[in-house]
Amino acid sequence: MAANFVITKEISVNGNKITKFRSSKTGLSVVHVDNEGPIVNGYFTLATESFDDDGCPHTLEHLVFLGSELYPYKGVLDGLANRALANGTNAWTDVDHTAYTIATAGSEGFLNIMPIYIDHILYPTMTEAAYYTEVHNINGDGENAGVVYCEMQGRENSADSIMDLKRQRIMYPENSGYRYETGGLMSCLRSLKAEKSKRYHRDYYRPDNLCLIISGRVEHSDLLKALGPVEERIISKGPLPLMKRPWVDSPQAPLMKETTKTIVTFPSEDEDMGEVGINWFGPPVTDFLSFQALDILETYLTDSAVAVLKKEMVEIEDPYCTSVDFITQQRIRAEIRLAFESVPTEKLEEVEPKFFSILERIAKDGFDMERMAAVIKREKLKLLDRLETSHMTLAWPCLIHSLYGKKDDSDLADFVDDIHNLDVVANFDNATWVKYLREYFIDAKRATIIGKPSAEHAAKQAEDEEKRIEEQRKSLGEEKLKQLEKELERHRAQNDIPVPADIFDNFPIPNVKGIEMIKVVTGRGQPDANNNEVQKHLDSDHAEVPYFIEFDHIKSEFIELSLFLTTSDLPARLRPYLDIYFDSLYSLPLIDPATGKETPFETVVKLLDQDTVSHDCGVGVSSMFRQLALVLLKTERAKYAEGIAWLKKMTWDTRFDADRLKVIATKLLNDIPSQKRDGSRMSRVCMDAISYDGEKSNISSLSILQQSKFLPEVIKKLEKEPDTVIKAMNELREILTRPANIHIQVQGDILRQDQPKTAWVKNFGGKKDSTPLAPIPFSSQVWSEAGKAPGKKGYVVNMPSIESSFAAHVARGPTDFLDPDYAALLVLSECLDTLEGPFWKQLRGSGAVYGANLRVDVESGFLSFNIYRSPDALRAFNLANQIVQDYASGKSKFTKQELEGAKASIVYRIVRKEETISAAATEAFVNQVLKKVSANYNKEFLERVQAVTPADLQHAMDKYLIKVFNPEESNVVVTSATTKVKDISEGFKKIGFQLETKNIDEM
Ligand SMILES: [Zn+2]
Repeated sequence: MAANFVITKEISVNGNKITKFRSSKTGLSVVHVDNEGPIVNGYFTLATESFDDDGCPHTLEHLVFLGSELYPYKGVLDGLANRALANGTNAWTDVDHTAYTIATAGSEGFLNIMPIYIDHILYPTMTEAAYYTEVHNINGDGENAGVVYCEMQGRENSADSIMDLKRQRIMYPENSGYRYETGGLMSCLRSLKAEKSKRYHRDYYRPDNLCLIISGRVEHSDLLKALGPVEERIISKGPLPLMKRPWVDSPQAPLMKETTKTIVTFPSEDEDMGEVGINWFGPPVTDFLSFQALDILETYLTDSAVAVLKKEMVEIEDPYCTSVDFITQQRIRAEIRLAFESVPTEKLEEVEPKFFSILERIAKDGFDMERMAAVIKREKLKLLDRLETSHMTLAWPCLIHSLYGKKDDSDLADFVDDIHNLDVVANFDNATWVKYLREYFIDAKRATIIGKPSAEHAAKQAEDEEKRIEEQRKSLGEEKLKQLEKELERHRAQNDIPVPADIFDNFPIPNVKGIEMIKVVTGRGQPDANNNEVQKHLDSDHAEVPYFIEFDHIKSEFIELSLFLTTSDLPARLRPYLDIYFDSLYSLPLIDPATGKETPFETVVKLLDQDTVSHDCGVGVSSMFRQLALVLLKTERAKYAEGIAWLKKMTWDTRFDADRLKVIATKLLNDIPSQKRDGSRMSRVCMDAISYDGEKSNISSLSILQQSKFLPEVIKKLEKEPDTVIKAMNELREILTRPANIHIQVQGDILRQDQPKTAWVKNFGGKKDSTPLAPIPFSSQVWSEAGKAPGKKGYVVNMPSIESSFAAHVARGPTDFLDPDYAALLVLSECLDTLEGPFWKQLRGSGAVYGANLRVDVESGFLSFNIYRSPDALRAFNLANQIVQDYASGKSKFTKQELEGAKASIVYRIVRKEETISAAATEAFVNQVLKKVSANYNKEFLERVQAVTPADLQHAMDKYLIKVFNPEESNVVVTSATTKVKDISEGFKKIGFQLETKNIDEM
């Protein structure tokens, strides 16, 4: 069958080969992107165009996973995916396409699962029962439920969604698919029929509308061989009628006829901050040069503190917004959106005029061509860096090409190869740039949307929903509700017929040893036990480095330099300043220590951008180790020494300038209201406030709960007595930068640096500090009293801006990465919360949650159960508790296949940590220096995972997991829509949890 496929295009981008195949028999197309690394990624993409808000594309995105003709069982695909060394499957629906994704460790599992996945996409069972539970139903309480419905309930009335739908309505006419909510509006989902989704599937889910984009190390012959049975099956179904290509063959939307300004409200208790979006049409999708030019223009306007829009609208004393960013989407004609976030309500009307006055001035005075050249050069480097660090860099343009490119693929290179166009725009003169600025931004028709926060909207929304449900209950009546409860049960039972064990047994789990990992070679600044070429190379450079430095060698064109700063010595009064410190770090004036000469911050930012590809700083590493601060900088390989010099200057030689600090503190403060509207985030933030010491922990000190009180004080001080703040900042820096508090990592091509150590000595001095290195602090060392002994502490937080509920339940877990129970606890968690596992089936499948997961965090020492988007977090908790109790008592048991699947899935997660060269180098440092385990830790851990037995699971259950569900041993935070607060808090009381009810502003 491999003979069906012909190569339609072969290109090479920066050494990565891209090959496109198409079947002459079925029209199925395949793109292979050859990428280094142990992970193979698949993005199976269909062009999906829809002309209403029913959300058919989104319903299918869910229904596909509930069984296929050859595998008519819910859960079989994800169960098999785990055995293919993946972490289940996933998918997304955008307005113009639906993509089904999978990532596996190694290619063997990928090739095994791919045909089964395609069977699900092309030939799903789409049973009535699947539709009932997965899309929409009315439960026994008379509430609307279903996974898709609940998902949209959590999204539809957010500020973003409200503004985006308004934008779509203004920019596109009724006959355009871009006009509609492909996720499905709740009012439409309530009346959508399964038949319609089926028709949609028949029309759009066809092999000639499906493109398999595969990125990673896979042999072409193996790939085509694996597709053989797929081709046979498609052919056996007989020929299909001719298909119009979605989007490409549809009527094109005209450009906007007039400029409009529209005000919408969104629900928010806090009415201080709103949002503004300005929307334009960009160039047609095939005008690659204009698209690239606009991308550069947008970067020029917004990319740093000195970019004109940031400088004049954000980085000022009385800012218009906390951020301003362009979001450009490649559609048949590009959509350009400029988003101003967190705009003070009284300034909502001023944003647009201010923005255009800036553009007019640039059009008149011209661009800073020197900066323009720097922006283009940096964008090119960033692109090369992304090619090393993300599979998506090449996969994404291939995806866009599958939607809008020529059917014969002759234009594939144009979609993928941005480097060429960057070289062209580098030669544009000022007049050309001004022409673009006028044509696409100043003179083009636009749609401006102003989003206003409204407490009244929030109240009315809650009231209306309550009334609607009440009426629905009444009109259905007692009898019908009981019947509906039974209906739901019946449909669930139909979905949940067990998958025959032999399907799993017949699906081989690949041998982990066959996976080719990226090689990282570690050396140290001081002679070390390492006896490898990198260490020898380092030892041959005789410079005496005064700091702890780990050199992690990978084959990269870039060098990443990181300082890891221990924050343990900070007193409580200084710790809350960390956020201001890091937000200002790369945009402060610089003092030359030798001459005392000052370089203004604007110049510093410009020069820094010329020498670096990226820079970053903040607390935490790999979403852990938040008692550590990280200052990081990435440069081209050739600028190693410059990079080190910058790192030194930005960490030691800056001057804390009161005006800059005030700008930054104001920005941080203005950002808080929008975060306070996020139910999921707030459940975690409030839990952190319970769990950690408010004075010693960074998580707690920097949480928006503390910062919302701290920042106004700092701003006041900066006005009245700025010296006190500057003194505090200097003290903070002095403590953080003591040599004993610094660990350094260098990652990149060490062997190609002639004197890798000398460059450090030149900037950081050569004398060895005699104080020993401070130990790496763990978050588990800064628990609060309630964190040390969880139990009986908790809140139900009233959040009028949300329509569902979220919860965090936290108990103590292991605190040592070598803890003998760690592997078993991970496997146990995976068994329970894996896709199509017990939580998934019984919580998500019954409409009780959109998501529920367990998290074992050894660094913080906590084990948590999180409920994401639930109509009723109490009901979700009770169901989860029952599931766990049944496993604890032995009433339920994990099958051999479930245990194997969970282990295989953990293999994937561990391998994934080393997906790219830079991820692998980071992992080498995290393991050896932060976790204090061996370089082989991940490999050894894989073996420990393999060895976990059912008895080990029982032990981990009794020792740890059961605690999360015991009121005596766990803390709880629920964030909830106002309508549910009372029921939830009383319900928890009944089962032994004493939860205080609070409004979000009382936290
Ligand atoms: Zn969804």
